[in-house]
Amino acid sequence: MQCVTVKPNKECFLMGKNGCKLGSCKPIVQDCEGCARIEEYNGQKYCSVFPDPSVKWKNGLCNFATHRKPEFVEESKKINPLKASKRAARKR
Ligand code: SF4
Repeated sequence: MQCVTVKPNKECFLMGKNGCKLGSCKPIVQDCEGCARIEEYNGQKYCSVFPDPSVKWKNGLCNFATHRKPEFVEESKKINPLKASKRAARKR
């Protein structure tokens, strides 16, 4: 059904015969700034894919974010202690 609260005429799965199941969408949070999924309605910014952006940032990075990606820490090279000691013995 089409939204009748904050995103007029936009198709939304949360909209039912009795209105929005969440009450209404919540505005974006600070971490969302720069995301390509932001939409503006009546001067207020909302997420186009999730009704409550603060929930998406509650436990870290939003998995829908287009402006920030998770940083992968390069795993340090594992050293086999047995091979390392043999290598060191050879150098002597
Ligand atoms: S996709 Fe995530 S980061 Fe982007 S606007 Fe929505 S909640 Fe914010």
